[in-house]
Amino acid sequence: MSRHRVKAVSYDDDDYDEYDDGYDSQDPEEKEFLEECTREVLSQLAAGTPSVSATRDEVQEALWHYYNDVEKSVNYLKSKKTKEAGKMKPAAGKAKVTTTGPSPDDVVLNAQSSAKGFKSKQPASKTQGDKKDQAGLASDMGNLSVIEKVNVKSKNLDVISEYKKSKRKNAMNFVVIGHVDAGKSTLMGRLLADLKAVDQRTLEKYRREAEKIGKGSFALAWVLDQGSEERARGVTIDVAASKFETENTVFTILDSPGHRDFVPNMIAGASQADFAVLVIDSSIGNYESGLKGQTKEHALLVRSMGLQRVVVAVNKMDTVQWNKDRFEEIEQQVSAFLITAGFQTKNISFVPCSGISGDNITRRSEDPNVSWYTGGTLVEELEATEAYSHALEKPLRMTIGDVFRGSIQHPLSISGRIDAGCLQIGDQVYTMPSGETATIRSLEVDEEPSEWAVAGQNVVLHLANIDPIHLRSGDVVCHASAPITNISSFTCKVLAFDHLLPSMVDIHRGRLHVPGRISRLVATLDKGSGNVVKKKPKIVPPGVVARIVVEMDHAVPLEAPTRIVLRAGGDTIAAGLLE
Ligand code: GDP
Repeated sequence: MSRHRVKAVSYDDDDYDEYDDGYDSQDPEEKEFLEECTREVLSQLAAGTPSVSATRDEVQEALWHYYNDVEKSVNYLKSKKTKEAGKMKPAAGKAKVTTTGPSPDDVVLNAQSSAKGFKSKQPASKTQGDKKDQAGLASDMGNLSVIEKVNVKSKNLDVISEYKKSKRKNAMNFVVIGHVDAGKSTLMGRLLADLKAVDQRTLEKYRREAEKIGKGSFALAWVLDQGSEERARGVTIDVAASKFETENTVFTILDSPGHRDFVPNMIAGASQADFAVLVIDSSIGNYESGLKGQTKEHALLVRSMGLQRVVVAVNKMDTVQWNKDRFEEIEQQVSAFLITAGFQTKNISFVPCSGISGDNITRRSEDPNVSWYTGGTLVEELEATEAYSHALEKPLRMTIGDVFRGSIQHPLSISGRIDAGCLQIGDQVYTMPSGETATIRSLEVDEEPSEWAVAGQNVVLHLANIDPIHLRSGDVVCHASAPITNISSFTCKVLAFDHLLPSMVDIHRGRLHVPGRISRLVATLDKGSGNVVKKKPKIVPPGVVARIVVEMDHAVPLEAPTRIVLRAGGDTIAAGLLE
């Protein structure tokens, strides 16, 4: 598993304090090289006439911008210092940003990115400060006009035929939903451990740590959770992502938390998922309270966001001695509910299992109490999900999940999943809403270097010829030949979670959050057929599907069919598809 692969960047010590969990953050060779360059710049600055002094941070910031070119960094710093001396202004070095720690949203985004192995160690709340610094530095550099255009040759590959030739495994993402404590993390940890997606030494380390605090069963959950704060609390507060593979498919798990406060994180997960795994705690009392709790809200949410398939893991069956009647009772009630939520029977499957013991997860249970079950294991059910037909032939669309400094060789990188179309090294891409172009210098698919990538794949693009200030998570990457347009209002079909009235709302699309308002209630619709039930309703009650018009304060890149969520006052009030 690769969730801890960390790219090399230099940061303040306290960045490490907050996020370091024992992994070496920088390639020793890169570190040594950066040190050498830093020493060289400092000595050239000191030896110049007049001699110039700069801090190590300033030098390394300049080296970062000039791809470690010592001469350019020296020239830049000399000119900057001379200018500053002229103006008698304090140095505009890397400002110390004071923060009170990352917000929950930032924790999620950080966790999610580092889980994918994409991310630097910057706490997200510092990123903004750093972005400002970057912007300042970039504009300084712009004034000096020494930013060079990087030429990257395209091989002009026919990417779709390359993809067809390559026999790559299917790529599928799923989101894990269910009530808090249903056993989601344990179950996913079990999948990763049994499919050898996590190395045994790490697992052993977690087992020992968990036993030390008297919570041995938590070890599996920690495979997914990360950070000591969460470990101490024993709850999954982020949307962590990890990968495992079967013979035909590479699965990415987007583990969602069951806490009410963390619905926005689940939205981030669901907006990238091909299907959902709903974890139900079958134990007496917990099943009943789970059903009243987040189970229903989550299921409705993922359905209204366009997910069609759900695999239901009826978990903790060990606590009810694998009782067949219990399983059937749960199966009946949950499927009735899922069908009312709009899932089709053929797209729902149920597996009795135990995350703790591993029964019916990757191997069939040998417990005689469950001999009555003849269906597949959880993994077999996941594999039975039909490969999602990703839109390869459509125009390129990739929503930026994260913008980061990849490494010394890759000073500006973005990560995300390609929603549609394909791309290759050398492509000129267009980012919206900024409308700026960038060149793809190189790229990675599932963390392996590649010359091209197609819809459905999780990628990291290393970019050139663009200023980082034009790139933000939530922005959309496309080709200039078929750009996405920025819109400021749209019609959507949503499921109401709360009463909907013309009112202010926040519009969420994956990582994109924009303020706006519901401007019109067009009609309420039949959940199954989608036919109009009532035109121009005054109010849409919870549980009802409706067509509404939403206006936004700023134009943003959105187009149908896109999954969107509306929130107000910290609550999800509706979710659905843009029409
Ligand atoms: P999450 O909040 O849904 O991620 O739930 P966790 O994975 O953290 O599990 C919650 C609690 O249930 C922990 O104490 C687990 O050890 C326990 N648990 C998880 N799976 C099972 C299971 O299959 N059987 C039993 N008996 N307990 C389980």
